[in-house]
Amino acid sequence: MSKLPDESFRDSIGTITTEGKRNFIFPKKPSGKFYDKRKILSYILLAFLLSAPFIKINGNQFLLFNVLERKFSIFGFPFWPQDFHLFVMAMIVGVVGLTLFTVAFGRIFCGWFCPQTIFLEMVFRRIEYWIDGDRGSQMRLDKQKWDADKIKKRVTKWVIFFIISFIIANVFLAYLIGSDKLIQYITEGPAKNISTLVALLIFTSIFYFVFAWFREQVCIIACPYGRMQGVLLDNQSINVTYDHVRGEGETGRAKWDKRENRAETGKGDCIDCNQCVVVCPTGIDIRNGTQLECVNCTACIDECDTIMEKVGLPKGLIRYASEDEIVTKEKFRITTRMKGYIAVLTILIGVLISLLFMRNDVEATVLRLPGQLFEHKGENISNIFTYKIVNKTVKDFDSVYFKLVSPKGTIKLVGNPYVKIDKEGLAQGTLFIEINPAFLEGDKTRVKIEIYNKDELIETTKTNFLGPRSFN
Ligand code: SF4
Ligand code: SF4
Repeated sequence: MSKLPDESFRDSIGTITTEGKRNFIFPKKPSGKFYDKRKILSYILLAFLLSAPFIKINGNQFLLFNVLERKFSIFGFPFWPQDFHLFVMAMIVGVVGLTLFTVAFGRIFCGWFCPQTIFLEMVFRRIEYWIDGDRGSQMRLDKQKWDADKIKKRVTKWVIFFIISFIIANVFLAYLIGSDKLIQYITEGPAKNISTLVALLIFTSIFYFVFAWFREQVCIIACPYGRMQGVLLDNQSINVTYDHVRGEGETGRAKWDKRENRAETGKGDCIDCNQCVVVCPTGIDIRNGTQLECVNCTACIDECDTIMEKVGLPKGLIRYASEDEIVTKEKFRITTRMKGYIAVLTILIGVLISLLFMRNDVEATVLRLPGQLFEHKGENISNIFTYKIVNKTVKDFDSVYFKLVSPKGTIKLVGNPYVKIDKEGLAQGTLFIEINPAFLEGDKTRVKIEIYNKDELIETTKTNFLGPRSFN
């Protein structure tokens, strides 16, 4: 009877013990070609993440997600609640783009671009290696009694982790409330901004908890993207993959013995050194196949390549490859599913670009006051309207006025005929439109209004004007 493959690894996760307790991972410090490249990319992305809320384009924050005041700015383009459809469209494009990317290239995003991985692996974990040493030293320190050496190392690490978490919390707040406000609060001091300080400390605690303790559990348990892999990946998706055909050979993996010729014995190229497992930050064995826990960090590729080099076997036993490429040696190709996603993505990007081009910096609405019909004013017919003008720009409008373009008539604002609208502000009020009945098209006439700031036309809008039926 043929032996069934051992699938017991699917019943548990490496970071939880059989008693259900947390099994803290002490991964070996990665090194190698991929790790070096990831380091460079991570530092570029870190610089971007930390500076994006402080960069301004035309006075707009480069990235702003002010959910409370419903103000958003993406790549320097301000989005208002009125632009919500654009924001939703941009989000849909992002989700479809990421889905397409995942179908083709697996979880590359997690290993190379995700802020959680970048902060954990390239900031916190590197500080830990610096203070506590590599895997062996970390495990010994963990078991060590609380003597002066352990206290010194632990306190140093925790204080540094707290300071970095506090910095991240500040940047996070700059994304939420805007960097100008954050700097203003810092300048005013914590005593005047107790609620902001409390929010900062809550964010700091969350970041500290995530990066000092929860760590890879975010990717395994909490991240929805990770859990979507099961439906997104197929046999043609590129992933960090163990070449089981080569690694297991005819008789399976076996320890290295330099005296024997492995090709003759039928043994696979995997020398069962376990180094790909000890270096894995999520504690899995990639030789069991693609798993939900794998964040495609490439640490096992580097580690296995080092081992292969040492024993004189070809590198790439663990590499970026699809399952089909491993089994049938079939090269990467664009599948029907990918073509479908590309088509949808192209259409969505087209719609988004068109909407962005059609979007105005100023948005005005003029609506008839509900329940009001019309009035006779001398020879004219008068309607009462409410108006609302949103100034999405970063400059103040000092002298805004209305002009009736068609039909011929007059517009009178209640109060000051010139309106002032602050940058990123709005103005609303009441106005009367008077038109001679001779120019009316019936009981409902479409009127066109232009809105100027000084001599500059800033918006054109239309509304309905009511007149008596007898003028039909
Ligand atoms: S590092 Fe390579 S050779 Fe060593 S156990 Fe892993 S796959 Fe096998
Ligand atoms: S299996 Fe390899 S690529 Fe996946 S998380 Fe572990 S070390 Fe990283």
